[in-house]
Amino acid sequence: GDFLRRRLIAANWKMNKSIREAEDFAREFLQLIPDANSNERPEIVICPPFTTLSTLKSITEDYGVKLGAQNAFWEEKGAYTGEISPSMLLDAACSYVILGHSERRQIMGESNNIINRKVKAAVEAGIIPLLCVGETLQEREKDRAREVVKEQLVKCLKDIKLSGEKLVVAYEPVWAIGTGVNASSDDAQEMIAFIRSCLEKIYSREEADLTRIIYGGSVKEENIAEFLGEADVDGALIGGASLQAESLARIVRLS
Ligand code: PGA
Repeated sequence: GDFLRRRLIAANWKMNKSIREAEDFAREFLQLIPDANSNERPEIVICPPFTTLSTLKSITEDYGVKLGAQNAFWEEKGAYTGEISPSMLLDAACSYVILGHSERRQIMGESNNIINRKVKAAVEAGIIPLLCVGETLQEREKDRAREVVKEQLVKCLKDIKLSGEKLVVAYEPVWAIGTGVNASSDDAQEMIAFIRSCLEKIYSREEADLTRIIYGGSVKEENIAEFLGEADVDGALIGGASLQAESLARIVRLS
């Protein structure tokens, strides 16, 4: 990563952990990480299920560990059964929201257009979108990775004014998520530098330089240092390896 941008380690718990499990995780994790004011500590964000946000807030708020959600709707309030708005997330102490994750694109059928509405609403509410983009294995094999990622960025960020500090992009190649097969650090660097060049075209050089772009897909303690050694890789979005306090804490200490 670059000195302009603070490193970010974000945990994506997906649909895992009861309230009790989240509580146990938080107490153990806080014992294992450097103090909040240590300049050796990256920014840390935990994105748990909605049901555990309140408990996590009460345990982590004095320790500088931030919270994020894994989804949000685009309307503010009203007759939208089952949905949660960005302002509700703000109220529940979320600073971030993961949007455009490949699991939601594939399983819930979220399109770039839907993600665009969600990103816009999150930005307007003052929540930082953690926008996920990435190609499938088939697209990579057909040499379409750049084209697909560029289209995701252009469409998901359409008509959204923001400063680079108010956006995080996660490059998550679909074939690397939950598979144990991580992208090489060279591939991650190449795609993330490409994403930065797309952001420069959409916004400006200054904003692109301020935007943190992180890598996700089978990140673990054995490979985190290699990713962070790349010039454009500003952190990681971690699924499986974020579920155990010891494992996430070791990744934080290596970051
Ligand atoms: P993984 O998931 O670390 O388990 O590959 C990453 C993600 O889906 O954000």
